[in-house]
Amino acid sequence: MTAIWLLIFLFGAAVGSFLNVCAWRIPQKEPFILGRSLCPQCKHPLGARDLIPLFSFICLQGRCRYCHEKISLRYPLVELISGFLFVAVVLVHGFSFLAVVNLVLVGILLTAALIDLEWLYVPNRLVFFGLICGTILSFRFGVPIGALVFGAFMGTVPMLAIYLVSRGGMGAGDVKLSGMIGVFLGWRLTALALFLSFLSGAVVGMGLVIIGKKGRKDAIPFVPFLAFGAVVASLWGIDIINWYLTFSGLK
Ligand SMILES: [Zn+2]
Repeated sequence: MTAIWLLIFLFGAAVGSFLNVCAWRIPQKEPFILGRSLCPQCKHPLGARDLIPLFSFICLQGRCRYCHEKISLRYPLVELISGFLFVAVVLVHGFSFLAVVNLVLVGILLTAALIDLEWLYVPNRLVFFGLICGTILSFRFGVPIGALVFGAFMGTVPMLAIYLVSRGGMGAGDVKLSGMIGVFLGWRLTALALFLSFLSGAVVGMGLVIIGKKGRKDAIPFVPFLAFGAVVASLWGIDIINWYLTFSGLK
């Protein structure tokens, strides 16, 4: 049994490695399927043994085999996170179609968060790809179109209001991505996802101001928080909502 989970983790780590490549190539409009990976420092083409998720980084002690420059910690970190998320999704949803839907969402959100952290925007192509995937997967699941539209509304309307009020504090990409999350999660889980995003964003934002890393007016990329909220909601959202309803005496 342990071997299966290890396999799922390694598969998730390999997908994470691919998402790293996507997050690097999509903003630069490079084709992300074709073309060999290069060392970002010395541009030396990387061989298969340089591209084994996690292991290559550990074996090479975090340095490029060719120019010995340090490799960004971001690569193994994303592989690690992706591996753990894959295990979590399968643990929660089992070997099911629902698990596949959630894995696609996790992949898109991880890529969007990486791009927002580095480039401070969300590519329309990625949102569009997510919308198509979310719609196809939801129909395959028998979700009525009204629920899809309502989910997208739940994701878009509160974010659009903040976008209009904050005048640049929230990006248009955040609004679109939130609408995409709504298509995947439906309105209830999306409302929870947004709540968790704002909560985590506020906590981390205040923390960064307190330790002096950011000024009170500095923009902080919001997609990582959206991704966090959506992933937590997709994994444990129903439990959290039930717990809240019981706790508050509404149920
Ligand atoms: Zn190099």
